[in-house]
Amino acid sequence: TPGVRPLVAGNWKMNGLKASASEFRSMLDGYGEDLADLTGLMVCPPATLVLAFAQMSQDSRLSVGAQDCHAEPSGAHTGDLSAEMLADSGAVAVIVGHSERRQNHNEGDEEVHAKASAAWRAGLTAIVCVGETEYERQEGETLDRVGNQLAGSIPDGATADNLVVAYEPVWAIGTGNTPTATDVAEVHRFIRTRLRERFGAEEGGRIRILYGGSVKPSNAEELLGVDNVDGALVGGASLKAEDLLGIAMTY
Ligand code: PEP
Repeated sequence: TPGVRPLVAGNWKMNGLKASASEFRSMLDGYGEDLADLTGLMVCPPATLVLAFAQMSQDSRLSVGAQDCHAEPSGAHTGDLSAEMLADSGAVAVIVGHSERRQNHNEGDEEVHAKASAAWRAGLTAIVCVGETEYERQEGETLDRVGNQLAGSIPDGATADNLVVAYEPVWAIGTGNTPTATDVAEVHRFIRTRLRERFGAEEGGRIRILYGGSVKPSNAEELLGVDNVDGALVGGASLKAEDLLGIAMTY
């Protein structure tokens, strides 16, 4: 999208120990100044590594995000983390509504909406994930599903600074299968239209829409070259700095 700085964000899921963070950082440093003006690069490590990543990333080439947050700022929620805590640890963004959270933790749009609001309350960018299952695609329900998730999961007041949308077809996550460029284009165009209708032509036109689902260096050019694709949310391939950079460098 013209005038929009792309974002390539890695989602480490439940992977990574302290050593992985420093290894990743050294790999990145190996790329030297090439990175400075690249596309925005972000890693969303497990919450145990957010602080370590933030401390290693004070040169602004790499920003740090988290993978989930609780909707409340504090309280009796054993094991949960608030958006404020993540911000305090150095995160600038948080993924909400990832399909693995929607499936494994039964998160619905209402909860994702509350988590996105919490992210904003803490000054974080919310990376809101949407995407259809394989069954929904077969039934021709992809746009309905994505439209409902957008309407239900994104609070009023979204801007290009506080919101990133990630389109992640559930059947493409971790499977090696990807939609065709034509299918990606159709869904991203649809999301763009909805964002413009709701948040205004200009603001809605600048909100980044990432594609996610089995992105790797070898298919990045095709997928990221599609209209209205403003970057990628990368799972498996983000664990290796060279692969995440390989994807980012397609821009
Ligand atoms: C994800 O889970 O956000 C993702 C895109 O995973 P993968 O790249 O491994 O398909």
